[in-house]
Amino acid sequence: MTPPAKGPAGTSDLPEEDTGSASPLDFIRAIVAADLAAKKYKGRVATRFPPEPNGYLHIGHAKSICLNFGVAAEHGGTCNMRFDDTNPAAEDIEYVDAIQADIRWLGFDWGDRLRYASDYFERLYGYAMRLIERGTAYVDDLTAEQIRAYRGTLTTPGRESPHRDRSVEENLDLFTRMRAGEFPDESKVLRAKIDMASGNINMRDPVLYRIRRATHHRTGDRWCIYPMYDFTHALSDSIEDITHSLCTLEFEDHRPLYDWVLDELAVACHPQQIEFARLNLSYTVLSKRKLLTLVKEGYVSGWDDPRMPTLVGMRRRGYPPEAIRTFCDRIGMAKRENVVDVAVLEHAVREELNRTSPRVMAVLRPLKVVIQNYPEGQVEEVDAINNPEDPAAGTRKVPFSRVLYLERDDFCEDPPKKFFRLAPGREVRLRCAYFITCVDVVKNDQGEIVELKCTYDPATRGGSAPDGRKVKATLHWVSASHALVARVRLYDRLFLDEHPGERRDSLEALNPDSLEVIDTCRVEPSVASVATGDRYQFERLGYFCVDPDSTDDSLVFNRTVSLRDVWARIARTMKARG
Ligand code: ATP
Ligand code: MG
Repeated sequence: MTPPAKGPAGTSDLPEEDTGSASPLDFIRAIVAADLAAKKYKGRVATRFPPEPNGYLHIGHAKSICLNFGVAAEHGGTCNMRFDDTNPAAEDIEYVDAIQADIRWLGFDWGDRLRYASDYFERLYGYAMRLIERGTAYVDDLTAEQIRAYRGTLTTPGRESPHRDRSVEENLDLFTRMRAGEFPDESKVLRAKIDMASGNINMRDPVLYRIRRATHHRTGDRWCIYPMYDFTHALSDSIEDITHSLCTLEFEDHRPLYDWVLDELAVACHPQQIEFARLNLSYTVLSKRKLLTLVKEGYVSGWDDPRMPTLVGMRRRGYPPEAIRTFCDRIGMAKRENVVDVAVLEHAVREELNRTSPRVMAVLRPLKVVIQNYPEGQVEEVDAINNPEDPAAGTRKVPFSRVLYLERDDFCEDPPKKFFRLAPGREVRLRCAYFITCVDVVKNDQGEIVELKCTYDPATRGGSAPDGRKVKATLHWVSASHALVARVRLYDRLFLDEHPGERRDSLEALNPDSLEVIDTCRVEPSVASVATGDRYQFERLGYFCVDPDSTDDSLVFNRTVSLRDVWARIARTMKARG
């Protein structure tokens, strides 16, 4: 594992603070700064984010979005939102809409700079005709399989197609008729005429157009030929006057083709393509194809399942967009593939939520506690601080009464040495309220603990004893008759394998226990009026967010993240045990 540029990934000793702005420029920003200094592109910076609308955006895309919009904004430049929509079979308007909503949610705005590669189809066709006229493109009748066989390998050159030397006139005629729909799907393609012996396989007469009768979400049935990615991408960049075409490393070998297309057509604007390492996250798959499988085959509830690494999933889970931006900033730009520990992302989420989310008390698995010396029917309100990190957040009143719920795990009848929470005869503090002592344990016929009888010390109101005596634990609680019932979904990693994407079948590494639903949660009454997406810290339990499945009379929370990195603790324990 290669650590990210800032902060040690792969360890639990994560940076406490973002040291951000003082760090040197990453290699892409350094190139852009040098180009500006040299007055290349007349001092302009124009970037674009070019997703294919064939799936929802994931955290990897967020890295590219933050980079493209970020670099442009830093220099008063522009960033276009461009849909690379050249493959109607896989694309859908649902994705077009979702992608835009996600980018806005992440905090970026393209103003009126929304573009579609499909808007350039006519111009692209014209460019293709020009290549044919120049004698550098030809119509080929080989099948896809034959083309693959003729292409050669990394060690052997390719073979030229028998149709490679068709005349310009014949090629113009055939290509025009391809467009007119005279030939069946897949029966012909347009290919660039470059070099079948090139050391770079992408330069061995790549396909530029194919015939495919598919209804396009924007152009309908107007076209039955569709341009291929490399050709479309280079020319779309040029048409939009892009200066820096930032893309991921797998396109490095495509750069000569990108340049070839633009040089061959002698276009006015020739942007420079710069590649950076794509984001890989541990315990996560980041491939739209694999994510689509998870959705289609029902391993998750949808693209927005809170376990998904998609932006809609993270949003539903409760990840603040600020945390995702901080994460993208912190991992920096690398020129070589690496894997970032998912704990780095979770750390950024915790930091942001710690700063911004109000604290409330909630009990996941309630254990009834009766305070025997507290008057029946009496209710008092204790003051609780909303957010110790944010004095402006103020305080709230929390009702306290004779019957309370405590967390079942916070009681142990026969406590081991290091268990400091409630036990028979022991005194603990109830947060913001009183010291209580357990005096009796009530069990049912099966021997299960169903209730604790406790006493409280009225002199300890607010949580401290006038005689200065100490307790070793402070527990959260709710008043039984005031608390709201909620359903809580606890999420764990979707995959158990650190590198699920490297397996032939990622599904084998799925975590069977990635979702636990708890229907017994009790929450203090201050959360009565909540809206979808509201985030809270449930004291001692983690950060939780209101799920859209909530209704007026049933609350559903997603656990966004626990308070600490549980996995790191497990890893440390395993290590210590050898
Ligand atoms: P996937 O591999 O998930 O299908 P993709 O590359 O096919 O993704 P596009 O819609 O083509 O998805 O991606 C839009 C932009 O986002 C491209 O510029 C691409 O390089 C970038 N991108 C995609 N995945 C990542 C990633 N994991 N890290 C950084 N950038 C990414
Ligand atoms: Mg792609």
